Amino acid sequence: MSESKQNSRQKCISCGINISGTNAAAFNCPECNHAIYRCAKCRKQSNLYECPDCGFTGP
Ligand SMILES: [Zn+2]
Ligand SMILES: [Zn+2]
Repeated sequence: MSESKQNSRQKCISCGINISGTNAAAFNCPECNHAIYRCAKCRKQSNLYECPDCGFTGP
């Protein structure tokens, strides 16, 4: 079987854990539309995120 390395690895932007299969929030950077994911824990704590693409930070 072929193994895909691009298997939609989704990491929390704030704490970096793998959030695939968890109740995480997905949204796009308001500046550059980069896809950003945040885990339920960080969402609950309203942790800041920083876009890895343009450096935009937001709640
Ligand atoms: Zn997190
Ligand atoms: Zn951005």
